[in-house]
Amino acid sequence: MATIAVLDQNTIDKIAAGEVVERPASVVKELVENAMDAGATAITVEIRDGGISLVRITDNGSGIPAEQVPLAFLRHATSKLHDAQGLEAIGRMGFRGEALAAIAAVSRIELITREKGAAEGVRVVVQAGDIIDMSPIGCPEGTSITVRDIFHNTPARLKFLKSDRSEASACISAALHCALGRPEVSVRLKRDGEEVFFTPGDGRAESEVYALLGRETARGMLPVSGKGESMAVTGFTSSPAFGRGNRANQHFYCNGRYIKSVLLQSAVEQAYRNTLLTGKFPSCVLYLELSRGAVDVNVHPAKTEVKFSDEKKVFDLVYQTV
Ligand code: ADP
Ligand code: MG
Repeated sequence: MATIAVLDQNTIDKIAAGEVVERPASVVKELVENAMDAGATAITVEIRDGGISLVRITDNGSGIPAEQVPLAFLRHATSKLHDAQGLEAIGRMGFRGEALAAIAAVSRIELITREKGAAEGVRVVVQAGDIIDMSPIGCPEGTSITVRDIFHNTPARLKFLKSDRSEASACISAALHCALGRPEVSVRLKRDGEEVFFTPGDGRAESEVYALLGRETARGMLPVSGKGESMAVTGFTSSPAFGRGNRANQHFYCNGRYIKSVLLQSAVEQAYRNTLLTGKFPSCVLYLELSRGAVDVNVHPAKTEVKFSDEKKVFDLVYQTV
């Protein structure tokens, strides 16, 4: 007869980790979002071997007070939300308090952090979710998290990773999407010691497009903006002469967060219907601002999909604007 057993915490955390941490790129996304939430103005992302052997994110944000460091690794530990009502008002990238716990469950973490104004920093080593060392250290203000050997203790998941090359390119996209969404934050990405991109963080979306999508794409982009009832859209779309063979350069943001949206994609493409050759796709970087309540960001575990409460209004605004 089968026996029913309650899973231990370690197993529960590993299962939960699967929802947040699919591959090294998820680590990049979550940690860059944390750095941005901490008010960082400069962030460096380093990956080695596609992020499988190492992902390191260094920021100049608020830092974490030493006594709160152990809490950061607990599940449902967040400094951004204190009750269910707060959920409505949340304007940050993270709020579920899952990322650090999930990453810690499947990797070896070294975190070095110094709170702004604190005399010294602290270094913590976390393995399989447990803090195995914590000691004071001299370091700059801000936080540096190094995530090594992702999935070393979940071989089944490790097997599902693709080549270093494809994992690296997923990490690069993740960092690029974060960077493109926040023109006021300077982001540097290094892969195996070599710089892949650097954004100046001067607050101008044009600079980001230029630094991240390249001179050619930037040259073919035209600024757009439009306003509707409780929503607005700004950004850039390509002139019809700059059609591409794929959708790789279509980027959508909703209230500062990178999203995937078939709805927005088709609104843009319909706007180009009679001006682009078939098989060619427009490029775009569109930033949507919607009032809270007009959008539910909480439908997707990795938060890349959103639910608009009035899809037709959003579609029409983007279509008309483009
Ligand atoms: P969430 O981002 O959903 O709150 P995380 O597990 O990603 O949950 O992070 C837990 C907490 O750790 C955050 O709420 C924040 O207080 C702290 N934290 C994580 N990363 C940083 C960072 N780079 N700088 C400052 N604080 C951080
Ligand atoms: Mg987070």
